[in-house]
Amino acid sequence: MSPRVIVVVLGKQGAGKGTQCKRLAQHLSIPHVSTGDILRAAVRDRTAIGLEVASTLDAGQLVSVDLVNRLVAARFAEDDAQRGALLDGFPRTEVQAGALDAILGDDGVKLCINLDVPNDLVAARLSSRRVCQECGAIYRDSDIEAISGTCSVCGGDVIQRADDLPDAILQRLEVYERDTAPLLAFYDQRGLLVRGDGDQDPQEVTADIRETLLERGIG
Ligand code: ADP
Repeated sequence: MSPRVIVVVLGKQGAGKGTQCKRLAQHLSIPHVSTGDILRAAVRDRTAIGLEVASTLDAGQLVSVDLVNRLVAARFAEDDAQRGALLDGFPRTEVQAGALDAILGDDGVKLCINLDVPNDLVAARLSSRRVCQECGAIYRDSDIEAISGTCSVCGGDVIQRADDLPDAILQRLEVYERDTAPLLAFYDQRGLLVRGDGDQDPQEVTADIRETLLERGIG
């Protein structure tokens, strides 16, 4: 079997990681693995893990490294992840980056894309963001789906994430600067880091990333 294609997508909350990962996952035929989505599904389904992490998520704090490592290792054991994955929200600390290397063994991370967006823009994007609780589709507060509360993709409930409220946004951006920003140097030192300009139309961001992937022999 050809080696796994593991691409890590980094960027502040609201940088557009989820949107880009969904598009690129289709293009590369590898799954979009979002630890945030996995954790939110657990909360929604009221599993034991969901009940344990619900208040941590709402406050915009990180869940324990052991828990998230276990979730990721289990996800990597699934069939579709044997080809690779676009990782969104993991790793988000240097300890998790080390754990990821241990989980992957010889098939290391192939590329890390940092979606760069200024702070004032991400704060505005997050506070106007609404999401479908079922399928994760993303809307703006002015969209008809947000106003009606019904997703036009799957009919699920469209809500505002508790961690998209102002206090939690500030908290998450602080956690990003403290814990996740150092990962840029971690991947840069390994020659794996590329910058993506996240302050453009989503289609343009995707086109730029696809070009970068081609240059690196991916996709
Ligand atoms: P965002 O990056 O916009 O905060 P995510 O959907 O990636 O959104 O994550 C939502 C929440 O899930 C985080 O604030 C955190 O509580 C939890 N979480 C997600 N990924 C991780 C991780 N790798 N380690 C610890 N906590 C995580």
